[in-house]
Amino acid sequence: MAAKWDNDEVVQRFREYLQIPSVHPDIDYGDCVKFLQKQASELDLPVAVYEPVPNKPIVVITWEGLQPDLPTILLNSHMDVVPVYEEFWTYPPFGAVVTDDGYIYARGTQDMKSIGMMHLESVRRLKAAGVRLKRTVHISFVPDEEIGGVDGMKAFSLTPEFKNLNIGFGLDESAPNEHPSEILAFHGERTSRQIIVTCRGEPGHGSLLIPGTAGEKLHYMINKFMTLRAEEKKKADGNVWYGEVTTVNLTQIWGGVQINVLPESLSVSFDIRIAPQYDHDEFDQMISRWCEEAGEGVSFEYIVKNPQVKSTKIDGSVPFWEAMKKVVTDMGISVKCVICPGATDARYVRAQGIPAINFSPIMNTKLLIHAHDETIHIDVFKRGIDIIEKVVEAVANV
Ligand code: ZN
Repeated sequence: MAAKWDNDEVVQRFREYLQIPSVHPDIDYGDCVKFLQKQASELDLPVAVYEPVPNKPIVVITWEGLQPDLPTILLNSHMDVVPVYEEFWTYPPFGAVVTDDGYIYARGTQDMKSIGMMHLESVRRLKAAGVRLKRTVHISFVPDEEIGGVDGMKAFSLTPEFKNLNIGFGLDESAPNEHPSEILAFHGERTSRQIIVTCRGEPGHGSLLIPGTAGEKLHYMINKFMTLRAEEKKKADGNVWYGEVTTVNLTQIWGGVQINVLPESLSVSFDIRIAPQYDHDEFDQMISRWCEEAGEGVSFEYIVKNPQVKSTKIDGSVPFWEAMKKVVTDMGISVKCVICPGATDARYVRAQGIPAINFSPIMNTKLLIHAHDETIHIDVFKRGIDIIEKVVEAVANV
């Protein structure tokens, strides 16, 4: 453990947050709330704790702007982290050890306690410099993002308290980038759809060639899905960003009773993520059409049917995005803004009609989200604070 940073308050605050084991499953968020309340009191800012779901606290620290009636800025991060396989870690995952060469090792250094601290530290700096921003800034810390955010941002986004925040623009997490001077940003997400297709047919003896078997119908359906998969894969192989292709994966097949008996029913499941540019209703209709074509007794049901959420526009019509892009570019950094291949809490914010950008200013860093030995370099973390500071200033003065 390097002593060089012992008196570095920024590093020590970050370490303190990382050392709270807010790790799934069954997280007690109490220590996170206490830590954030302490941050708020140091910043001399009001803090509210909402619990739309018991024991799932939403912490909101608010810095009022000069024109508090204007739509506000939301800087969101999640407090939870994914589980660890401690035996594969070089340093304890909740030790936040700093190495001699300046790396901090801990779960959450990338996803995403680092970003939460960048949000706080940037406001701390702006306040210390005597800056006053036009718009109010809310810094939120939410639970359960890593398990879908249903009791976290989803629940909160549906409350009157959320509406009262009057948010005009939101920031959330993206992902680290190995590129030394390019930040990855997301302006939308794909839509998750998980379906089960069931094919029914005439049972009979395995030695016959009777028509309308469940097997023939299943074959037809699998063919359709796998052809679609191949087309999308071709686009992905042809260098289309993988958030912008639809992924289709066959995940389970089941049915039948015995090897010489034609089954009465066979089922197959697919995990599908629909890219935003596709008409989701048309996608639905296409699957229904395939079922009809496959023959009688073929149907499908959704296990997960997430609604389509409109992406945030990056065509010049959202001034907040234009403002942040400009200050980042002025710092000599480029921003690659694409569709997120996975899912984040930003979808719940966008679903309320609020433009939101996922933005993790972590460059020159190997992606170790959810991996062993998750780490960030102190210089990278501090550079992130510089960038967020400029971004907050820009978007809150729009
Ligand atoms: Zn995350």
